[in-house]
Amino acid sequence: MASNKIDDLLQCPICLEVFYDPKVLDCQHTFCNNCLKVHLAASARMFSTTNSVECPICRRRTNLINNSIDSLPGNYIVRDIIERQYGTASPERPPGYTQQIRDRIQKLQNGEEKEKEKEKEEETDYMEYLKPAAAALVGVLGGLLLAKGVKKLSDNNKKHDGH
Ligand SMILES: [Zn+2]
Ligand SMILES: [Zn+2]
Repeated sequence: MASNKIDDLLQCPICLEVFYDPKVLDCQHTFCNNCLKVHLAASARMFSTTNSVECPICRRRTNLINNSIDSLPGNYIVRDIIERQYGTASPERPPGYTQQIRDRIQKLQNGEEKEKEKEKEEETDYMEYLKPAAAALVGVLGGLLLAKGVKKLSDNNKKHDGH
């Protein structure tokens, strides 16, 4: 029972495996070094910056030295407990482990992705509203030009009639 509880504490919230090279963020949340690297690469597309990393749990940002996850302090207590618990600081990774990290990070970031999609939808709604307005404007301008042309034509006709 007691050891199960410790196992939970040694589980990385990203990959759901035992921490591997655990790193601590400013918020004290701990993740595998590699998981944070994948997370940073994934979120860099959104924030276009790698000089800080957002905690996947509490969203607090931690500044990075030289844009590097390696610069974060290691969680040596967690690493020591893992070593005692499993007899090694780096327990074996399951097959497909890297893909597992990517999938998990995608799920963690899904909330933000959805917000982005919503923004896009609002944008297209706006365009849908603009299109008929633009079409109407073109219609009015076309009508004016047409009216002008007709008037010219009738003016010419009048001149012809006069002579
Ligand atoms: Zn991990
Ligand atoms: Zn956190």
